[in-house]
Parts: sequence; C-alpha cells; structure tokens
Amino acid sequence: MAASEYDVVVIGGAAAGTAAALALARYTCLRVALIERRRFEDFRAGESVSSSLLSLLDFLGVSRAAVAGAQLPTYSHAAAWGSDALVMRNTIFSSQGDALQLDRRQYDSILLEQVAGAGVALYRPADIVQIAHEPDGLPWRLRLALDGSECDIGARYLIDCSGKSALIVKKQGRAMHSEDALVALYGYYDLGAGTDLPQQTLVETTEHGWYYVSPLPGKLVAVAFITDADILKRLDLNLDANWRALASGTVHVRKIMAQLPAVAAMRHYAIHSRVASLPDNANWTAAGDAAMCFDPMAAMGIGHAVSSGIHAARVAEACLLGDAGMARRYHRTLFDSFAAYLNMRRNYYAAEQRWPQAPFWQRRGRP
Ligand SMILES: Cc1cc2nc3c(=O)[nH]c(=O)nc-3n(C[C@H](O)[C@H](O)[C@H](O)COP(=O)(O)OP(=O)(O)OC[C@H]3O[C@@H](n4cnc5c(N)ncnc54)[C@H](O)[C@@H]3O)c2cc1C
Repeated sequence: MAASEYDVVVIGGAAAGTAAALALARYTCLRVALIERRRFEDFRAGESVSSSLLSLLDFLGVSRAAVAGAQLPTYSHAAAWGSDALVMRNTIFSSQGDALQLDRRQYDSILLEQVAGAGVALYRPADIVQIAHEPDGLPWRLRLALDGSECDIGARYLIDCSGKSALIVKKQGRAMHSEDALVALYGYYDLGAGTDLPQQTLVETTEHGWYYVSPLPGKLVAVAFITDADILKRLDLNLDANWRALASGTVHVRKIMAQLPAVAAMRHYAIHSRVASLPDNANWTAAGDAAMCFDPMAAMGIGHAVSSGIHAARVAEACLLGDAGMARRYHRTLFDSFAAYLNMRRNYYAAEQRWPQAPFWQRRGRP
C-alpha cells in the first residue's frame, strides 16, 4: 500500500470522527487517516453531557486527566417546563454522576492530539477539493488542499463524520428522515472576575420557545433561546433590547440575566432532528450528526457521536473483512434509537400545555 493510501479515512475530526479514528487505531491493525478542515478558532455551542462519556473515553484510551480542563461539572439541573415551578434534580442522586459542560474547542483539540499520538495520519487543516468513487481497485480517491498545495489520498473505506453537512451521505444521495428543525440563538457572557453563578443548568419555557442557561468552562455562561426560524425572525432577537425584553418576561432566566455583564458574543445554530438511511453493503458509513441529529433538549448529541463513532469503526473493520452483518445491525440500531428519541421528545413537548394557541407549541406533536 502506498504511503498516501489507507484502509479507512475518517472525514471530520470532532466528537464522532476522533472516536472512530481512535477505536480503529487502538483495536485494529488498519491504516487510518483523518481529515479535518477546521483550525478550531470558531465558536461551539458549549454542550452538556452525561459523565458516562468518560467511560467511552476510557475505552478509547483517553485518560480522564487529559480532558479535565475541557469540562466543568454541574451539580444540579433546574427546569420550569409545564409550569413556573422549578423542578430540581441534583446530580448527586443520579446513577450517572455529575453532568459535564464541555468546552468543545478544547475537547476537540485534545482528542485530535490523542488521535495523532495513536498513529493516525492527520490531515489538518485540509479541505476536500474532490472525491472520486470507483467500484474497482481502491474505491475512494480524495484530493485535499493542504498547506497551500494539493495532495491525493486513497481509501478502501470512508467514515463520514462531517457533522450536519453529512458530506458523503448527501453525495451518495442517501435519504434523510427529518422530523423537526429548530434554531438556537446563544448569548455568551464572560463573568471574568465578577460574580460566580451556581454550577447548575436551567431550562425555562416561554410562549415562543424555551431557554437553556448553562455555565461553561472558563467562567463563561451561555444563555440560549431555542425556537423556530420564523419566530426568531419575527421577534428580531438579534437586537439586544429585544433579547433582554424577551428574558424579562420569564420568571427564572431574568434573575440570572440580571447578574450577567454585557453579552460578549451572540451566535446562531441550526438544529435538526433527523436520521440518515445508510447503505448495508457499501464501502462507507456515517457516524455522529452525519448519521443522526437530536434536539438539544435531549442532550444526546455528543454521547451518540462518540458511541456511533466507535460503532462505525467496528462496521468499517467488519466490511473490510467481507462481513456486512455488522453494518446492518448498526443501521437498525440507529433507526431504533431515533424512534425511541422521537417518542421521548414528543412526551417532553406535550408536557407544556400553557400556550395551546402558540405556533411553537402547536407545531410540536401531541403524545
Ligand atoms: C445549539 C446546539 C446545542 C447543543 N447542545 C447539546 C448538548 O447540550 N448536549 C449534547 O450532547 N449535544 C448537544 N448538541 C449536539 C452536538 O453538538 C452534536 O451532536 C455533536 O457536535 C456532533 O458531533 P459530530 O462529531 O458528529 O459533528 P460536529 O461536531 O459537527 O463535527 C463535524 C466535524 O467535521 C468537520 N468537517 C465537516 N465537513 C468537513 C469536510 N468536508 N472536510 C473535513 N472536515 C469536515 C467539521 O469541521 C467538524 O469538526 C447541540 C448542538 C447544537 C447545535
């Protein structure tokens, strides 16, 4: 095999891609490469994960000390959903332990260092200029723009971990089953030397959508409003006065907002609930958001990205050995998990009955 030819090439080096590459590097003898286009200068939402993520990282040979700086434990969750009353759940009483708020830029950078240290060829920052797929010989040929020049690499198998852009899923014309599309507007606040807030997350519903407030590593606080694109536009929340006015109508979020300094940055994110229909017998698969995306209310995205990345690595190895059964089981698991997620999600939204005429709540199903 030539130096630039690999058994498996992973596209995307975030939660799913690093998990897939590490699983292949630690548990198989396959030659693996990973392509990532980012330099990690961009903002990431700042996600909440269950500490069961750490067991998956143990499996991938990533020490807990290595990721300690990229996470902040939260000790309780508070939610006013269905009424103004706050329901509190302290993580000390949860079998899953504390929840963790991730600094994604740092988390992804640390995981990529681990990937390089495990012997995976890292192409970063690299843009994929061209992808050619041929049934015979080495099926995948990729042209990359890297360090101001172009290079070609080949692969026997691809794992699409490109997130919502789902590069290979779309390129191969696979169907996506979409259930919902939301948008999130995040305000990031830098507490600096100012007031410390409790390490607690807060969810509160309004007529037009719901708030999610979370502390983040580095003394940051994220205040997110999740709604539909047309409602966000109508409320014109990009205007600071409107952003503050909406929060002032809440019972709980406004008390936190009153303690925050001026907003440091505002960011929009698109959020989908969807699952891709993946092929059972092909020389590629997908993991993470490229395969399935969730409403952030479920806080399932990162856990799914890491576990599906590991699963996709096993599918790749089995396919290269001529066994398509693993791919079939993986795809069935994705659809089953998506069905269970939709059911849970419908029940959550149906638990809020205070605004039956409001478009945001009308659009979300009844149980
Ligand atoms: C607003 C918001 C809030 C969220 N909150 C939570 C939460 O609280 N808890 C939770 O668990 N999840 C949450 N999620 C979901 C979570 O962020 C995603 O599920 C998770 O990031 C998916 O990881 P991934 O590796 O599949 O994709 P991504 O993190 O999107 O990574 C994809 C990677 O692929 C790279 N890439 C893309 N195209 C190419 C290309 N052509 N060439 C090379 N590289 C490429 C990108 O640069 C990126 O690094 C939230 C999502 C959003 C938007």
